[in-house]
Order: sequence, then structure tokens, then C-alpha cells
Amino acid sequence: MKLAELFDIKDQVVLVTGGASGIGLGYCEILAEAGARVIMSDIDHDALTRESARLRSEGFEVEPLPLDVTDSAALDAAVASIVAAHGTLDTVFINAGIGGGLGFVRPGGALEDSDVDHFDRVMAMNMRTVFQSMRAVSATMKRQKHGRIIVTGSYAGLRSSPDMSYSYVASKTAVTGLVRQAALEFAPFNVLVNGIAPGPITTNISGGRLKNDQGIRARTVVNVPLGRIGEPDDLKGLALLLASPASGFITGALISVDGGKSAT
Ligand code: NAD
Repeated sequence: MKLAELFDIKDQVVLVTGGASGIGLGYCEILAEAGARVIMSDIDHDALTRESARLRSEGFEVEPLPLDVTDSAALDAAVASIVAAHGTLDTVFINAGIGGGLGFVRPGGALEDSDVDHFDRVMAMNMRTVFQSMRAVSATMKRQKHGRIIVTGSYAGLRSSPDMSYSYVASKTAVTGLVRQAALEFAPFNVLVNGIAPGPITTNISGGRLKNDQGIRARTVVNVPLGRIGEPDDLKGLALLLASPASGFITGALISVDGGKSAT
């Protein structure tokens, strides 16, 4: 394959969930810059309107799609509307997610202090919606006999950490399993399924704690060999790779972008 073909995603139709902020917004920016038609979806209508308008004003082909990924019927309808409008859905980034609260090293984070309903909410958002989103694109991608499913997992899906809550670790570990399981089912259909496992990245997650709290940043950076907190820009190269012909023999992988954290 020639260099020009390796990363050619021009005119691909790509759906990104949780695309109005942080890591998902970074995905939308790089995919649009590479010439894809990006359907940016998010539950936050204001951020979606603002960010999609910004990217359109820069000349990129992006479409805002208000979508709550906890709503399975809405997910199915969104996929149907994309296929009806564009004739295909080449790639989906299943990215929307929430933080899980306190790890057990923090006051109030011990197992006996934790709230079962909160656990259910985090599992529903970070695990169930990934299953639902994969399910929503399944028939379409199998029928097309091509596609890419790229899930934002986490360092928490590969390693335990006292800083992270049981619900977050459990939900992201489940996501690792979903990626591997789906990779097996989809492989005969030329649909590749992979996960991106970020370490700490400066975004709005958990009320922007990592963005705004210098104490948390200082404690977090200690465990990152590269000595800094990541930025959404740090995920862009891998996002482009996993959507591109260059990654045509990669499936079922969880690839870390964590400054070396998972190597410790
Ligand atoms: P973020 O809060 O900046 O972005 C998340 C986006 O998801 C927001 O725009 C939010 O409105 C949207 N969203 C939330 N609930 C939704 C719903 N029900 N339906 C549709 N959209 C919804 O956070 P982020 O850090 O960019 O998180 C993106 C993904 O990255 C998440 O899955 C998160 O678990 C994962 N992640 C983040 C980090 C980190 O340190 N920031 C590390 C590892 C993994």
C-alpha cells in the first residue's frame, strides 16, 4: 500500500458519540480534517451546536446529531437515518462515557461507603451503552461487509488503580471484553473492532476535575512515566490509524495512549 492510501479516509461516513467535548471532539476534529463526513453526536445540545458550527466554519463536513446513547431505540433510529442519508456507515467511534467517582484511597470512596445505585448508573452509561451502540451498527456493517468499530475504553479496563472507583474499573473492564468479543463475531464480515485505552486526559469528565484541580493533576502525574497529563490531541493519531486502511490487520486490540502508565 502506498503512503497516500494508508491514511485515506476521505468521504468515509463516521459517527462519533460523545463528540461535543474532550476526547470525542478531538476525534471529530482529526477525522473531519482528514476528509471524512463526521456525524457528531452528543446529549449536550449546546456544546454540539457550538462545536459543529465551529468546525463547519473552518470548512469541514460535520453534521450535529443530538443523541442520548442510553436510549437504545434512539441509537437504532440514528444509525438508520445516517444510512438513509449517506448510503453507508463506515466507522463508528463509541466514545460517550462518564467518570465513576472516588477511588478507595479518597475519603468516602471505600467499598462500604459506596452507593449501589451510583454503581448501576455508571455501569449503565459506560458498559450498557457500548453494547447498545455495537448492537445498533451490527446489521448494517455486516451487510456492507466492511466497517470499523472503535471504542473508547480506558487504562481502567486494563489495570486496577486505587484512584478509580469500582464502578469505573468494572465498566471499563467490561468494555475491554465487549471489544474482544465483538471482534470475533465481526471478523468474518471484514468489520474490525478495536479499543483505545486512554490514561489521564485533560477533559470535562467528572466535572473537569483533572482540568481544574491542580492537586489532582499533581497526584496523577506522578504515575505517568512521560511526566505529563495527556490532551485530546494525544488521541488523534491513533483514532486516525484505527479508522484507516493502515490498520486493516488490527482487530480485537486495546491500544493504550497513557504516557506509559500501563507499563508501570
Ligand atoms: P468529556 O466529559 O469531555 O466528554 C464526554 C462527552 O460525552 C460529553 O460531551 C458528554 O455530553 C457526552 N455524553 C455524556 N453522556 C451522554 C449520553 N448519555 N449520550 C450521549 N453523549 C453523552 O469526557 P472525555 O474524557 O472526553 O470522555 C470520553 C471517553 O473517554 C469516556 O468514555 C471516558 O470514560 C473515556 N476516558 C477518559 C479519560 C480521561 O482521563 N479524560 C481516560 C480514560 C477514558
